[in-house]
Amino acid sequence: MVDYYTDEEINYMDGGLFTLDNDELRHLMVKALVNVPSHIVDELMERCIVIMAGPNHPAFHAPNNLIGGKDIICLSDKLFKLKPEKAYFIILHEVAHCLLDHKYDSSLDLKERKRQETEADRLANKWLEKSTCVLSKKGL
Ligand SMILES: [Zn+2]
Repeated sequence: MVDYYTDEEINYMDGGLFTLDNDELRHLMVKALVNVPSHIVDELMERCIVIMAGPNHPAFHAPNNLIGGKDIICLSDKLFKLKPEKAYFIILHEVAHCLLDHKYDSSLDLKERKRQETEADRLANKWLEKSTCVLSKKGL
């Protein structure tokens, strides 16, 4: 049985995740992370920090081999303009890059970059599909 945190639980965890004290971002992130099994949320809090990019910047993941230390997920203010499901997918895609330990350096070829993108898409979709099943079974 896979466990999920509630939004209240994630909201109070804040393991260095929401460093810029951006409430709007925190809210969106919490809504995305309730779809992810709790042990994965724990791992993410351990390994990653989430910040907000400047205006009109796309969301991205900066792996720890690039910056030294923790992975950084940088989210875009464009997410607030999207439908929630689309925004959650983009967030979880970046979360998946982190959890799958995707690395980046300039020598990565296009094929490998594409493989990583596909893998991150797949995992994000899996989380969103699974959580929908679980929630509907619970009658929510
Ligand atoms: Zn990606």
